[in-house]
Amino acid sequence: MTLATLAKPSAAAKPRPLSGHTALITGSTSGIGLGVAQALAAEGAAIVLNGFGDAQAVMRTRDRLAMEHGVEVAYSGADLSDPTAIAEMMAYARDVLGPVDILVNNAGIQFVAPISEFPTAKWDAILAINLSSAFHTIRAVLPEMVERGFGRIINVASAHGLVASPFKSAYVAAKHGVVGLTKTVALEAATSGVTCNAICPGYVLTPLVEKQIEEQARAHGIPAEKVVTDILLASQPNKRFATVEEIGALAVFLCGHGGASITGAALAVDGGWTAH
Ligand code: NAD
Repeated sequence: MTLATLAKPSAAAKPRPLSGHTALITGSTSGIGLGVAQALAAEGAAIVLNGFGDAQAVMRTRDRLAMEHGVEVAYSGADLSDPTAIAEMMAYARDVLGPVDILVNNAGIQFVAPISEFPTAKWDAILAINLSSAFHTIRAVLPEMVERGFGRIINVASAHGLVASPFKSAYVAAKHGVVGLTKTVALEAATSGVTCNAICPGYVLTPLVEKQIEEQARAHGIPAEKVVTDILLASQPNKRFATVEEIGALAVFLCGHGGASITGAALAVDGGWTAH
C-alpha cells in the first residue's frame, strides 16, 4: 500500500537550474538516495521521496528538504519489491507534482553469503528491489519523457555492477543487470532527449555499509576499524569512502545541460577500484 504525503515550501524561491523539474528518487529516506534528493532539491527540483523508516523521521526529512530548499516535496512509502505498489507510486507522483522528468533508481539492499548457503528468498528480494524495480519505474515514465523530449534516468548501480566480489552473488548479478538495463534504455531513447546512465559507487559510508561492517567484524572477530581498512577499503585505491555529496553532485551534473550527451554510461565513483 502506498502512503502518500506532501509538504509545500514555505516561500517561493528564485528559479534555479532544475526549477520546474520533478525528480523521483527511490530509496531516498537514507544514505545515497537522500544525498541525491538533497542535491537535486538544492538545484530547485521538486522531489518525490521513497523508502522505509520511522514515520516521524521521514516526515521531518520531507519537511526539512521543502523548507531548506524552497521546493515541493512528496513522499511515497511504496515497497519496491511489489510492482503494484510501484505503479501506485508512479501515479501518485504524477498526480501531485506533475510528470516525473528525473528518475533516480537507487533503492537497494544487500545480503552476503556463499552461494551454496544463499537463501532463495534473499536472492528473490535483491533481484526485485535492486533490479526489477528499475524496470518497472522506467517503463512507467519513459513514454512521457520521450513525448516531452526531455528526461534524465539515473540508476545507482555499484562498482559491483562492473566487477564481482565473492559472497555477493545476488547483489553482483542485480547490479550487472542494472548496468545492462541502463545501456538498453539509453539506446532505445537515444534520439529523444532522454538520457539514461548508471552511477557506480565504490564504498560509501551509509547504513547499508555500516551493517556490513558490524556483520564482518562479528564474523571475523576483528574490530570494525580493521574491517574498514583491511576488507572494505582494501579494494578502493584512494583509501577513503566516497561521500553521498559526491554522488549527489554527479547526479546534478547528469541532469543539467552538461550531461546532455552522456548516455548509456556506467560512471565509476570508486576511488580507482575498477581501474584494477
Ligand atoms: P541505505 O540502506 O542507506 O538506503 C537504502 C534505501 O533503500 C533506504 O531509503 C531504504 O528505505 C530503501 N529501501 C530498501 N528496501 C526498499 C524497498 N523494498 N522499497 C522501498 N525502499 C527500500 O543504502 P545506501 O548505501 O544509501 O544504498 C543506496 C543504493 O546505493 C543501493 O542501490 C546500493 O546498492 C547502492 N550502493 C551503495 C554503496 C555503498 O557503499 N553504500 C556502494 C555502491 C552502491
